[in-house]
Amino acid sequence: MKRILVTGATGQIGSELVPALRNKYGNQNVIAAIHSRKGDPEIFDSGPSVTLDVCDAGLLERYVQEYEVDTIFHLAALLSSVAEEKPNTAWEVNMSGLLNTLEVARKNNCAVFFPSSIGAFGPTTPRENTPQDTLQRPNTIYGVTKVSGELLCDYYFSRFGVDTRGVRYPGIISHETAPSGGTTDYAVDIFYAALKQNRYTSFLKADTRLDMMFMPDAIRAALELMEADLNHLKHRNAFNITSFNITPQELAEEIQKHRPDFSIDYDVDPVRQAIADSWPKNMNDLAARKEWGWNARYNLETMVKTMLEKLSKKLSVKAGRTS
Ligand code: NAD
Repeated sequence: MKRILVTGATGQIGSELVPALRNKYGNQNVIAAIHSRKGDPEIFDSGPSVTLDVCDAGLLERYVQEYEVDTIFHLAALLSSVAEEKPNTAWEVNMSGLLNTLEVARKNNCAVFFPSSIGAFGPTTPRENTPQDTLQRPNTIYGVTKVSGELLCDYYFSRFGVDTRGVRYPGIISHETAPSGGTTDYAVDIFYAALKQNRYTSFLKADTRLDMMFMPDAIRAALELMEADLNHLKHRNAFNITSFNITPQELAEEIQKHRPDFSIDYDVDPVRQAIADSWPKNMNDLAARKEWGWNARYNLETMVKTMLEKLSKKLSVKAGRTS
């Protein structure tokens, strides 16, 4: 990777991936492609940035050629609950955006990173220890675009030799940029609520178990996979990766160790609950471990401690005990 373009650069993942890539490959070599100018000004100030709607293939190709890009991290997408509200737009952005990226990559000899999701699985997938290769019949438009995206990336490699690679991320927890419209957003919202109001109302049931990951591990996974030795990759795309799996109640209990007065109650959103109930509780990530040495570094305890420390600084509140 010498010259990299990141789509969806101001989103939850992009806003941390762009600085990590700039740190590793040089500020001028990482182009942040943004859709709206909302977001951390650091992204615009610390290196090149361009405005891009991923549905505009011509403009994407112009930037790739102008900046002599050799690798695209394609993050632009509508996430699960927003996608359910706007299925047509979700199809357009998630599928046309990916097809445009793959076509531009084919014509300009670029590698592509595409993040899939636990959302690529469905209610008939085994929910415990979900295998790498298994039944995928998602019943959300987000899941339909993700499983189609996984297949399209495989196709572009086998048919045209495009160096496509990707992971299936679980829900991602982070403190830099708030998530926007995913089913696992509760696991970030809860920290803001704990520090601001000392209480949180969860839109998922207390015992809804889902796979999660802390952002530093998610960023490292993308970088390590894109640097991995090609000869060792059998799957290339859609590697299951995981760190820890939790329920809202378990997360609340871990937060209570630091903030004993914190309380949680539940007002379940049936749409997001149904989505969560169709997703794996924990994925089996043996293939990623074997093929490119994947290994998560954060667990529930270290993630909660770090989240509270970082967010309390950001919000200027005490992270520690409240009673
Ligand atoms: P996000 O919603 O925070 O960011 C997505 C970005 O895409 C936003 O900056 C938005 O402005 C941009 N975008 C939307 N429509 C666009 C368009 N037409 N053209 C260009 N940009 C457009 O999402 P995220 O959490 O950063 O997710 C990035 C990728 O990772 C997505 O593909 C998502 O499906 C995947 N993923 C995320 C998670 C998670 O928990 N965050 C989990 C699994 C997979």
